Amino acid sequence: MTAFEVINPATAEVVRSVELASVEETDAAIARAQAAFPAWKAVAPGDRARLLRRFADKVDGAIEELAALEVLNAGHTIGNARWEAGNVRDVLHYYAAAPERLFGRQIPVAGGWDVTFQEPIGVVGVIVPWNFPMPIAGWGFAPALAAGNTVVLKPAELTPLTALRLAELALEAGIPEGVFQVLPGAGPVVGQRFVTHPAVRKVVFTGSTRVGKQIMAGCAEQVKRVTLELGGKSANIVFADADLEQAAATAPYGVFDNAGQDCCARSRILVQASVYDRFMALLEPAVKGVVVGEPGDEKTEMGPLISATQLERVSAYVPDDAPVAFRGSAPDGPGFWFPPTVLAPVSPRDPAAVDEIFGPVVAVIPFAEEEDAVRLANDSEYGLSGSIWTRDVGRALRVSRAVEAGNLSVNSHSSVRYWTPFGGFKQSGLGRELGPDALEPFTETKNVFIAH
Ligand code: NAP
Ligand code: MG
Repeated sequence: MTAFEVINPATAEVVRSVELASVEETDAAIARAQAAFPAWKAVAPGDRARLLRRFADKVDGAIEELAALEVLNAGHTIGNARWEAGNVRDVLHYYAAAPERLFGRQIPVAGGWDVTFQEPIGVVGVIVPWNFPMPIAGWGFAPALAAGNTVVLKPAELTPLTALRLAELALEAGIPEGVFQVLPGAGPVVGQRFVTHPAVRKVVFTGSTRVGKQIMAGCAEQVKRVTLELGGKSANIVFADADLEQAAATAPYGVFDNAGQDCCARSRILVQASVYDRFMALLEPAVKGVVVGEPGDEKTEMGPLISATQLERVSAYVPDDAPVAFRGSAPDGPGFWFPPTVLAPVSPRDPAAVDEIFGPVVAVIPFAEEEDAVRLANDSEYGLSGSIWTRDVGRALRVSRAVEAGNLSVNSHSSVRYWTPFGGFKQSGLGRELGPDALEPFTETKNVFIAH
């Protein structure tokens, strides 16, 4: 075993040391998950549902504890961290309603009966990134468990603390040993083993597009089921007929939430040229007004970046000669702080307008007509989310249909509700999480014909 020092990103101080699992320990955990599968699959639907509701109740009772852990480990603002823990509870409750509703079909055939069954797949490996350690874990394990699978979960090395606590809460709720295990470890060790181990029948991966492609290629070897939630470079499109005050006041929160470390960050603002100057004049005070600081403070709206490495990556997009229009503030001193930064105007092919920066940096790009906005929005290998600001209902619908992305919002920046589908077009991912349909990909459809 090797140990990993978990760092508080707001202070750069060591919080705790966590043992990293080896390949042998990963294999042993997968074997336990495999052994636990037949009994978990056989739990009566109503009992499995009740266990998941108890797990949700345990999470509910630990909201403050989990939120405080995330503030410490990930530098999330306390308000966000509470929402994130509550999201785990809600996702568990939502999928706790699934076991009794895993319906098959009866299909008319000659000479007998034909029925379908939604069978669990087996052991599911969930690989989680550091940007939203709790929600992204829950979006994988809750439907996987509800469908009757057992789960091995690897949190990001940087942020294992809340996942470890969730595994304890599952046991306290009565979820049997081996059904839900959390294995802190390195991606190329534990995560890679989920891909290569034949007993792991499905991999749920959230993270970078680069690693996601490797996971998908690796899973191809065993035709292993795979769900991918990858990067984004989403557009916030502001038309001249929009409520500009509202669009400008909310734009910072559409990109700088979680210090921009959000796959849904609206990190390109496309503004109709006729209102460009007015929009920028309104945007400046909004950006300068973002409260950046101590993440545990109730008033804080943005905390630090996750690590020294992430600070270095993000800083590289804002060299000394970058076209900085204006920026917000950030604390000095220890911790991985970066101020909200607006680059404008940026050419659409500039790296700042193309790459997922995953930090509080936004590129503003003017456009002339509606079709130019759509072309610019779609000029990306990604397609995760986006926003459209206009008072014209026809345009709102036209542009919503034309933008190649999985999650769009009109006159809003919301993208995640646990009861609606979430996922990406193009290189932003494969498959959908959350919502009414996310259960099915955790099952195999079995067709049975019974002769008269
Ligand atoms: P990453 O390397 O893709 O990490 C995501 C998860 O995959 C982590 O648990 C990681 O483990 C694991 N992993 C890494 N290499 C692996 C491998 N070969 N096989 C199996 N699992 C593996 O992402 P990152 O390096 O943390 O962040 C880099 C960039 O990715 C960010 O700047 C951002 O652009 C993007 N990103 C996107 C999202 C998103 O929500 N879409 C989330 C995070 C990052 P370790 O913790 O040990 O590396
Ligand atoms: Mg990595």
